Amino acid sequence: MAILRVEPLTTARALRGPFDYRRPEAMADLGVGSVVRVPFGPRRLLGVVVEVAEASELPPERLAEPIEALEAGATPELVRLGLWVAREYCSTPSRGLQLVLPPGTGAGSAGRTTRAKTELRAAILAAGEAALDGGERLGARQRAVLEALRAGEMSSGELATAVGSGRGTLRRLEERGLISTSTKTVRRIPGEPGLSGTAAPPELLPEQADAVEALLAALDGEVGAPRQLLLHGVTGSGKTEVYLAAVEAALERGKGAIVLVPEIGLAPQAVARFRARLGDRFAVLHSALSAGQRYDEWRRLRSGEASVCVGPRSAVFAPVRDLGLIVVDEEHDPSYKQEGDPTYDARAVARKRAEDNGAVLVAGTATPRPESWLELPRLELPRRVDGRRMPPVHRVDMRGADPRSGPLHAETWEALEGVRAAGAKAIVMINRRGFAPWLTCRSCGHHWSCPNCDVSLIVHRHSGRLVCHHCAHSEAQPRACVECGSTTLSRAGAGTERIEALLAERLDPMPVLRLDSDTAAARGAHARILARFDESPSAVLVGTQMVAKGHDFPEVTLSAILDADATLRFPDFRAEERTFAMVAQLAGRSGRGEAGGEVIVQTLAPNASSIEHASRHDSAGFLEVELGRRRILHYPPYSHLVRVNLSAEGEPKLDEVATSLARELDRELPDGSELLGPAPMFRVRNRHRRRILVKSDDRAGTATAVREAVERRAADRSLKDVAIGVDVDPQ
Ligand code: ADP
Ligand code: ZN
Ligand code: ZN
Repeated sequence: MAILRVEPLTTARALRGPFDYRRPEAMADLGVGSVVRVPFGPRRLLGVVVEVAEASELPPERLAEPIEALEAGATPELVRLGLWVAREYCSTPSRGLQLVLPPGTGAGSAGRTTRAKTELRAAILAAGEAALDGGERLGARQRAVLEALRAGEMSSGELATAVGSGRGTLRRLEERGLISTSTKTVRRIPGEPGLSGTAAPPELLPEQADAVEALLAALDGEVGAPRQLLLHGVTGSGKTEVYLAAVEAALERGKGAIVLVPEIGLAPQAVARFRARLGDRFAVLHSALSAGQRYDEWRRLRSGEASVCVGPRSAVFAPVRDLGLIVVDEEHDPSYKQEGDPTYDARAVARKRAEDNGAVLVAGTATPRPESWLELPRLELPRRVDGRRMPPVHRVDMRGADPRSGPLHAETWEALEGVRAAGAKAIVMINRRGFAPWLTCRSCGHHWSCPNCDVSLIVHRHSGRLVCHHCAHSEAQPRACVECGSTTLSRAGAGTERIEALLAERLDPMPVLRLDSDTAAARGAHARILARFDESPSAVLVGTQMVAKGHDFPEVTLSAILDADATLRFPDFRAEERTFAMVAQLAGRSGRGEAGGEVIVQTLAPNASSIEHASRHDSAGFLEVELGRRRILHYPPYSHLVRVNLSAEGEPKLDEVATSLARELDRELPDGSELLGPAPMFRVRNRHRRRILVKSDDRAGTATAVREAVERRAADRSLKDVAIGVDVDPQ
């Protein structure tokens, strides 16, 4: 008798399997990865089979049998991967497994799950034709159905529309032997994105061909060929063509591939190119699809009907068969890190999955992370495909600027007016949405902040509201001060809305389009805004980081970034890295066409390493300085970080738990680890926060010590008001 070891899908940290069940004869095809509904005490739970064993420690009569198995499950490979993620990121097996299951599994715990969509199809039989011709007695509906079917097979839905027949009519016709019916699975196909790609591959440049050759050597397992590589190519150097060639080569070798892209809404052009080139072998998985579409795409990959999956970070768990290649496009993008539990990093999961499957991994970007620069052998694409030089970058020092002249420097205005005169296009980036980040009273100094969070409320002019960017709070914009009644209120600082208004006023009649998470919130809005910018002969695109990502508009001759050092002011060791990537990526959007282009960087810190190197498009120089600094400070990639985040409504309890946890960790962490904190963080959603940071060379030992300490507290009911989360490799 076989025993199924089942891990229940539950959010409770305390309920930890696996639990043994008997496998009945009728379920002989169940194996590792199957999803089953099982009795659990008085309840029923969904669970995943994580092991099939010969015997149980429990006597057979104490073992129950699964009630049913769901239509689709994961593969053994994915089960191992899900459990690895759970361990690696201090999460629970249940949460790790959720990542690798068919989309929709476990939605509403033991409730409904997504299934394949089927339809009933009807075809006329010879007897049906004879009945029509022979004038046999038929109801009007029945006759209409038979007539319609003479032209060919139809689905019950099509028949309902055409002749108004219901399923009853079809059943009666079938009983009389006049038609036959069958049930077919229908695919719910994801809609086409707004932009289309071309299907024909160009002839590769020598550098591209060299890169592809290195990837082929890796795919063919040649001795000495590195299997995980960094593709370092300036923006517009043809990296995507290299990925496409590598994916096609993997397919020719009977292998599948995963292509990870940053948040898919941000890369419609890239997705369209993959779809156009790969046709039916292509599948896409992302959160904007309907549950049914996602489920069907997943099943096409699982069955081998499709072999290439393009998607954002969660696509690293796609059930691609015979995985031969994983591409991580724009590998510097922060969206590869999941914020919620488990706090996995898709780039690390991709490397693990590639290793376990003997697959090749290529991570590509113009602005590599220090980690990848240090750890991966490199393929270089040093030139733009079109042979154009990288655009010159002017740093505009805002320290001496007259504050009354507003958020744009005179030089920036001059350049923008030049773009208008030439009938070209410009991109302006400011990494802050809304109209103004501060509202204060000029008479008494009152400042509007969020009642739930220790942050300023942001003025949103379009909606006429003050909005908190950390919680759902918003309130109508006041006309007068709540403290002193004065009506002279000052809206200080600038966000995308204000810049949009300034540009529209001064650059009239050039159209100004705004792209940020407010304007792109509606379904398809993001692609529509980019399409409008693409179609306009001359326009300005203004927005947050969204404007710097991945698109290719040859008519852009100017890109400008305002307040380029805003990200440098974050107290984060990755601040320089982030700023470098942001400025360099934005710079890469300019000068892709014949008219050439330039870049303006407005900053208060023109001599910061990130800004200086980005102005020269010098990744190698930046990374050398940055790695030196990281080594001295003992930061990643020269150590590992684990962060514990605690929050609670009551501050005393929070402090007590944070302090005791820190003390305990101090004793139990591996030798040589360094513990920082507990440090206070600003309050969010009415919850006070503390964080503890551990720096260590021993990642596994640290993760284990932290997990055990946190789990002891999770089991203590007296601490249930204090939320504790663990973030391994925090970003
Ligand atoms: P990256 O991903 O490095 O930014 P892309 O692969 O998007 O660069 O290439 C930029 C543009 O150049 C695209 O429009 C692409 O179709 C085109 N392109 C890429 N490689 C070639 C080539 N070998 N010959 C001609 N055009 C190319
Ligand atoms: Zn006042
Ligand atoms: Zn708030």
